[in-house]
Amino acid sequence: MKHHTPDHTPSAPVEPLATGSRRAIDYLLLRWRSERPADGTLPPYENVALGNLGHFADSMALVVQPAPGNFNLARVGSLFGKWGEFSRDGGSFSSLRPDRAHSMRDAIHYSLQSKEPARVTTHQVAQGQFETYDLWALPLSSLWGPEVFVLVLDRRETRHDVLDTMFGASDEGMIALTAIMDANREVVDFQFVAFNEGASRLLNLPAERLQWSRLSELGLELEESEVIENLARATKRGERISFEVSYPGSDELRHFKVSVSPAGELLTVTLTDIADIKNRERSFRILFEGNPLPMWLVDSESLRILQVNEAAIRHYGYSAEQFLSMNTLEIVPRTRRDEFETFLNTLDTPYQGRDVWTHVRSDGALMEVYPYIRRMDLAGSQTFVISVVDVTERRKAEARIEHMAHHDALTGLPNRVLFRTRLNEALQRAKMSQGMVVVFCLDLDHFKGVNDTLGHPIGDKLLQAVARRFSSTLRRSDFVARLGGDEFAIIVNEVEQIAEASRLASRLIDVISLPFEIDGHQVVVGTSIGIAVAPHDGQEPDLLLKNADMALYRSKNDGRSTFRYFETEMDTRLQARRAMELDLRRALNAKEFTLYYQPLVSLSTGRVCAFEALLRWNHPERGLVSPQEFIPLAEEIGLIMDIGAWVLEQACREATRWPNDVRIAINLSPVQFRGNRIVQAVSHALEMSGIDPGRVELEITESVLLHDSEANVRSLRALKDLGIHIAMDDFGTGYSSLSYLQKFPFDKIKIDQYFVRTLSDRPEASAIVRAVTGLGRSLQIATTAEGVETAEQLVHLQKEGCTQVQGYLFSRPLPADQLAGLLSRSFSLTEESPAEKNIRKIAG
Ligand code: C2E
Ligand code: MG
Ligand code: MG
Repeated sequence: MKHHTPDHTPSAPVEPLATGSRRAIDYLLLRWRSERPADGTLPPYENVALGNLGHFADSMALVVQPAPGNFNLARVGSLFGKWGEFSRDGGSFSSLRPDRAHSMRDAIHYSLQSKEPARVTTHQVAQGQFETYDLWALPLSSLWGPEVFVLVLDRRETRHDVLDTMFGASDEGMIALTAIMDANREVVDFQFVAFNEGASRLLNLPAERLQWSRLSELGLELEESEVIENLARATKRGERISFEVSYPGSDELRHFKVSVSPAGELLTVTLTDIADIKNRERSFRILFEGNPLPMWLVDSESLRILQVNEAAIRHYGYSAEQFLSMNTLEIVPRTRRDEFETFLNTLDTPYQGRDVWTHVRSDGALMEVYPYIRRMDLAGSQTFVISVVDVTERRKAEARIEHMAHHDALTGLPNRVLFRTRLNEALQRAKMSQGMVVVFCLDLDHFKGVNDTLGHPIGDKLLQAVARRFSSTLRRSDFVARLGGDEFAIIVNEVEQIAEASRLASRLIDVISLPFEIDGHQVVVGTSIGIAVAPHDGQEPDLLLKNADMALYRSKNDGRSTFRYFETEMDTRLQARRAMELDLRRALNAKEFTLYYQPLVSLSTGRVCAFEALLRWNHPERGLVSPQEFIPLAEEIGLIMDIGAWVLEQACREATRWPNDVRIAINLSPVQFRGNRIVQAVSHALEMSGIDPGRVELEITESVLLHDSEANVRSLRALKDLGIHIAMDDFGTGYSSLSYLQKFPFDKIKIDQYFVRTLSDRPEASAIVRAVTGLGRSLQIATTAEGVETAEQLVHLQKEGCTQVQGYLFSRPLPADQLAGLLSRSFSLTEESPAEKNIRKIAG
């Protein structure tokens, strides 16, 4: 196809071959096969073609080969002649149109080779139609000697419109125009003859508007006269020309390249949209000049700076003139120029600022930048476009953020993250040198008190002062961090002997226990320290910290302002605690709790006036577990709410079976006051049991009034409004006991058993007992002494004016079904037992 030029001479149309031609070749092939002799030689011409040619003569030719390689056309059908552009009379192949001769020779050649009919494909364009033919050669023998060939043209059915094919395949606009001339044969206008879709699209006019229109009529907003002049010149001179036009389209400026090739009065015009290229150049200008990033253009040969934008001038401090006289290598420090040059010379893909580079300003100051460099063809010359992002400030900010991420904002000390990293490093080093790493966990004693009483700003300043004292006490090789709140940690490096760590711990404790002077306040805190030592107590940062923390917990429990080393047993205890926690969570459902009851005896009547309900846990393996062991844990994990509710209901229910003048005393945990749910829990127990509220006595400890005291006092009042009695339990063991008695009108004070136990050997004890009973008398409230075990204690308490007593002397706590005897009994309070009389005698 590529060799064919369209045949535009419509004067002598080539008629399509007869539709019967398909039958012609089929018929001839059939004949050829049936006439072929059995020895495989060629069938004779006379049998196959003679007499039959008449039917198909138009599409056939007869060729003889007088000498090898020399062919003559003996007869030519009319259609065949038109295809081959030769006369009926034929002649030698050498005088024919070369491509036709070539096709015929090929067909003949193949048929000779195979001794079979052979076929080649040929093409022609007629009437704007692109047609494909099969050219058959049938080899025949003849009576006269030389071989004879019958050539048959057989047209295939598919045809294409050439113009459509060519035009349609193009994105460009293609137009055929004819010139319109005036009487003087001067070209005055052009008329659209044909055009493709691209032309209609690019000109933004529908096909109907374009067809047969004159160029001047289209109302294109272009310089028509100039365009027409150009086209006319091309027509006149018969020269190809090209020029550019632009005109405002509906939404944007359109730019075309117009290529014209004239053929007489007919012009073929190609329109190419170059708006893209124009726009690209324009946007580059805008991008370049208005860009806030410094940019410049460099000649890729000389590396001279060709253009530079405002941002670059501002940023680098060179004037435009200075820039334009510079080589781009001068932008980097002298020592890096060779490297930069090699980099530019070998750059083939755009460089996207992977690394930070150093650039030099006009004043010599260095900056850190990410450069973006790409090669670019601009206005025909090879350039580098360089733009940079200055990250000098950002890098500084990053460094600040980095610092913030690893330090505590309040004290400036390293934080937990950095501590872990350093600890890890220290542990690695120690592993290699087989040395020790000592970790301290520290926490301030009574810090919460400072915060609560003096406020957070003072608390913050205290933490800062503490941090300063730590830092100034430690050696350079040690590392201190604030883990959070009032928690600190220290890595003590290069320790040879454990004694060194102990000395350091003591020194820190001493230093921190010295008073701090903060905003005119004298603040005294202390610090407790837990110590873990690698590798013995662990080799992983987290484990070591955890163990040091456990030791800290221990030193706090051991009275604060001390240090403790981690011991494996601490861990064991922690494990045991976890096990108990699991058991405890299960216990309520498993009905493992039970209540014991201990009588309170009235000193005026000698009879039981109340029973105190005391909780017992009947553990499946451990037997009866003391409340002292599990209540703190139940408080910690919040389980005390459910347990407490159960106790309330169970105790009240039990008490309804006793005589009406016997009360039930129930212990409450301060935790039960949280969330103001206590009143509801008590009311519920009263309701469920139906007990008279006046028979219920709730025992609370001072700590209920210590935290959230206002809300808790409100709860106490609400309980009292229900008719319930409130007793202050364990009185004398807390802080400033007496002031609590003013906060709420208690019905009873229970003197802690500690004072009862020490009555005989501590004079202060009996002074306190006397003060409390005196207070009770003047406030007109009952006073109960707990833990009365001896007659001597009883006598003493009677003398001090206690109103009730409770203790093993009367009864141990008993299960509910063993109380009957106590209820009917009257205690003799005046006489001593014989055994006790003896003891007193010996002692006295
Ligand atoms: P508490 O309320 O002060 O109870 C008195 C404790 O002293 C009881 O210990 C009792 O068995 C014991 N005790 C009584 N008389 C004597 C005596 O003559 N000598 C000695 N050495 N001890 C005596 P228990 O039953 O082990 O209870 C301990 C604490 O557990 C109670 O102290 C109370 O604070 C708490 N508790 C007991 N049951 C409950 C409860 O149901 N709820 C809450 N929240 N706490 C409870
Ligand atoms: Mg009690
Ligand atoms: Mg008590």
